[in-house]
Amino acid sequence: MIIDMHIHVWDEGYQPIGYKMGMAKGAAFKKMPFKDPLDILPKIMSGASDPDGILLIQEMNKFDIDAVVAMVVDMGLAFNQQQDTPIEAVIEQHAKLIAEYPNRFFAFFGMDPRRKNHVALFEDAIINKGFSGLKLYPPCGFAPDDPVCFDYYEKCIELDVPVLFHTANTFPPLDPGLSHPSHLSAVSSLFPDLKVIYGHVGRPYWWQDILHIAESNPNAYLELSGWNHVAAKNPKKFANILREMVDTVGAHRIFMGSDFAAGPKTVGDRNRLPAWLDYLKNLPINAEEYNVQFTDEEIELIMGENAKRMIKL
Ligand SMILES: [Zn+2]
Repeated sequence: MIIDMHIHVWDEGYQPIGYKMGMAKGAAFKKMPFKDPLDILPKIMSGASDPDGILLIQEMNKFDIDAVVAMVVDMGLAFNQQQDTPIEAVIEQHAKLIAEYPNRFFAFFGMDPRRKNHVALFEDAIINKGFSGLKLYPPCGFAPDDPVCFDYYEKCIELDVPVLFHTANTFPPLDPGLSHPSHLSAVSSLFPDLKVIYGHVGRPYWWQDILHIAESNPNAYLELSGWNHVAAKNPKKFANILREMVDTVGAHRIFMGSDFAAGPKTVGDRNRLPAWLDYLKNLPINAEEYNVQFTDEEIELIMGENAKRMIKL
């Protein structure tokens, strides 16, 4: 069974213009000669829109992906609500897809904890709309161990659903420091029964900090999206990193994820998801050449069996 634990469904209006500008700046100043971010801006995300999930389901069928878990991200407050589609409408669209594609499309609710009424809406989404968990994006301006988040955690425990935190780097002016795993160490101390998923496992440089915290916490889980880029560039390096993750927390606590967002420019030949799936599936054979061993059972857990348990499929 293959379940992608971290994908996105976007439409043009889902992300604030300020966030897209941050992505454009990130791309513009990566190497010399520098480019004008304004020239790059129109290209950002325009090719990854598929609000009705049509291209997504096509790609899932093509690559034998049984199910996906879409993450709703709420960046509205961080950018003074400069987005065309309000977060309530984004959540409704995800609810529609859950209903339309039963057992194939799953989603995690996402709303900034500083909004009003967020816990009631979250509870309604889980109980009545089929959502499977909560996604939080701390770089938007709150730390995971800030008491403003605690009502959410109590509700997650009560409803027995996990919370996935973004723990990777991000784009300016958002604050990646708020994603540092030390905040999550505090959360797990205060709420030991809370199932915490480390989204992106601290890519690129905080993965060892996460292992340090997650090793002794049975409710800590790792979700691998973003590491597909590392595996593509340096398959040996990532095989070693994954082995260390498995040895530290156990293969039963790691999920395959991709951050894939279907759209006219990300499907077909441009889709990098199949290469990621092939890489992981073939690790028991291919990693031998790097002197790293994986069993078929470990890979099956990571590819989907763990996610199946978590989303109660
Ligand atoms: Zn994501």
